[in-house]
Amino acid sequence: MAVPKMKVSRARGRKRRTHYKLTLPAIVACPKCKEMKLAHHVCKLCGTYNGVQVLPLDEDKKA
Ligand SMILES: [Zn+2]
Repeated sequence: MAVPKMKVSRARGRKRRTHYKLTLPAIVACPKCKEMKLAHHVCKLCGTYNGVQVLPLDEDKKA
């Protein structure tokens, strides 16, 4: 129900909005190539997941 803004204290209004915060994506270093990648995702640079080669290596990306 609508309540006039001036009738709600600053603390009460702010307490209601504590869960509207952005969270950073889980980024970890790839164990093989040390590139930063999303956790629980295949590494885009070397194509490995959990130490297993799952994607073919691109010729232009080989280091
Ligand atoms: Zn990698």
